[in-house]
Amino acid sequence: MTAARKARACHAGALASVITAIYPATQHPAFGIPGLVSAAILLLVSASYEREAREDAARAARVCGAPHHLYPETLCTEPAGHYVRDRDSHAGPLIISGRERGGAAWDEPRAAA
Ligand SMILES: [Zn+2]
Repeated sequence: MTAARKARACHAGALASVITAIYPATQHPAFGIPGLVSAAILLLVSASYEREAREDAARAARVCGAPHHLYPETLCTEPAGHYVRDRDSHAGPLIISGRERGGAAWDEPRAAA
């Protein structure tokens, strides 16, 4: 689950806590406090996930992201715009079938001359 989805789930949980606090509060205003406290906690957790989601998006925007020519699910993690043929190769953790198989550097396959 991504940080953005966790943040949305916490928002929904906070809303549910407020809604379920309404009925006890009709009996006595203090009975609504536990629900409001859980809503406040969920909103704090949600804010933390939102910050994490923004950091993930900023990191993704800064990396090259070129796919490996044999393993397209493996993306280059070097900074965007780094690639210069024969000088700065694409690089990143080599992930095959969802498992990291060490680091790998790779160049695009050369066209037949
Ligand atoms: Zn690259």
